Amino acid sequence: MSDEEERTASGLRMHIDRQLCVGFGDCVTEASEAFRLDDEGIAVFVDPEKVDREQLIRACDACPVDAITVWDETGKQVVP
Ligand code: SF4
Repeated sequence: MSDEEERTASGLRMHIDRQLCVGFGDCVTEASEAFRLDDEGIAVFVDPEKVDREQLIRACDACPVDAITVWDETGKQVVP
């Protein structure tokens, strides 16, 4: 698994910095269809397409170590 994961869904470009992730799982708690913890206990994307935009932003924003960065369709950073 690479150190960086990126996905676009609901017009949001989302990036997980897996080196920053400490595996608390807050993103998974907020949107388990979008995120899961892998065998190393680090976050990866599942199906963010299945989660609506507001919930995705909430889930990404829940990260206590700012390991997830999100940009909207205009390129503006919306998380963290
Ligand atoms: S909330 Fe942040 S630290 Fe916790 S699992 Fe998700 S990406 Fe990792």
